[in-house]
Amino acid sequence: MSAVPLRSNKAAASAVRSVTVLGATGSIGDSTMDLLRASRDRYRVEALTGHTNVQGLAKLAKEFGARFAAVADPARFTELKEALAGTRIECGAGESAVIEAAARPAEWVMAAVSGAAGLKPALAAVDRGATVALANKECLVCAGDFFMERAAKAGACILPADSEHNALFQALGSGNREELIRVIITASGGPFRTWASADIEQATLAQALKHPNWSMGQKITIDSASMMNKGLEVIEAAYLFALKPDEIDVLVHPQSIIHGMVEFSDRSVVAQLGAPDMRTPIAHCLGWPDRITGPAARLDLAKIGQLTFEAPDFQRFPGLRLAYDALRTGRGATTVFNAANEVAVAAFIAGQIRFGAIARLVEATVEDWIRSGNLAPLTSADDAIAVDHNARKKAATLLPQIALKAS
Ligand code: NDP
Ligand code: MG
Repeated sequence: MSAVPLRSNKAAASAVRSVTVLGATGSIGDSTMDLLRASRDRYRVEALTGHTNVQGLAKLAKEFGARFAAVADPARFTELKEALAGTRIECGAGESAVIEAAARPAEWVMAAVSGAAGLKPALAAVDRGATVALANKECLVCAGDFFMERAAKAGACILPADSEHNALFQALGSGNREELIRVIITASGGPFRTWASADIEQATLAQALKHPNWSMGQKITIDSASMMNKGLEVIEAAYLFALKPDEIDVLVHPQSIIHGMVEFSDRSVVAQLGAPDMRTPIAHCLGWPDRITGPAARLDLAKIGQLTFEAPDFQRFPGLRLAYDALRTGRGATTVFNAANEVAVAAFIAGQIRFGAIARLVEATVEDWIRSGNLAPLTSADDAIAVDHNARKKAATLLPQIALKAS
């Protein structure tokens, strides 16, 4: 049985629902808190987590009367404790405290930690059979089939919060698995959609952070500029919906109005549309299996006038090709792909490598991994975490030579 429920059975209780937000201080966390703020009577906040932003976390915890607040940075425990002094909010610090936040008994959990650091907390929520709105794509890319198997075993319900996957989730209910031909996830193309390779190679951090349509955290915004984000999303779709690489297409759609489409055997293509605002897919997850009122702007297609589409360019955006390759290779290759990309993005932010070198570092790391005979199926979270750890080390050792090499 799949952990993603493809058809809704409208049995939702109208009682107050307990919720936990992992990564509450981030961009997805902010959108989630916005939705919770608008329906205070429907939701009770169990736990909230952050990484270093203690003051932001404490402010949210007080505003929502959370029972528990956790900061991932262990050095910030005292600061958090002081910020929550005089309240009845329990608190903790370090990775184990974030895991504890996820393990506490909230019915609905938003998994919006960024990067592979989100894996263990997401698993803690999955293991107790919670409904998990999954924004953290890296944890799926890192743990692959294993994550979904564990969710299915625990009876957890995974609701895709990433906009494209949420669109597919909504469209997939129109038919059965046997009737599905392919899914199409759209991509805005990012700020470098029309740039020549030589200019992409030299792009600055400020240019990479200027996303044309979406307002998001730093890591995912850079991933959007390199189209690594779309690559991660292809892998995410494969694991979430048990799809083969050939069943997933990417379509560049600069307006970001259509988020995902599903083609069925009768040649019907079912799409989900909406303004590019993450509060819409998050609202879908929060209300599911009902629908709640979303705060995003209503779609005015007459005003937008035109929706345009282009095929993705695998030459100028090699990250996309590398993602398909890693997915086809399997046996930990997507974990290596993700780990190397995280190292590469951090190095780009730190000014150690050029923008164009991000994909080169990912390619070199995956190639080295395969050449060294390291591919093996992942059978546990520890497996995935060990591969992630070793691939980061490998990427770090390859970094200096990639930094020196011109394109
Ligand atoms: P942000 O960088 O804005 O926020 C990340 C959150 O995770 C913050 O709360 C941050 O805390 C916390 N965090 C960071 N590192 C750690 C760590 N090591 N341990 C525990 N917590 C940590 O990211 P986004 O909100 O943009 O993205 C979150 C996830 O959602 C990512 O996986 C991204 O790919 C995915 N996503 C995001 C979308 C978007 O529109 N933003 C769209 C679709 C998916 P602090 O604030 O204290 O640093
Ligand atoms: Mg997305």
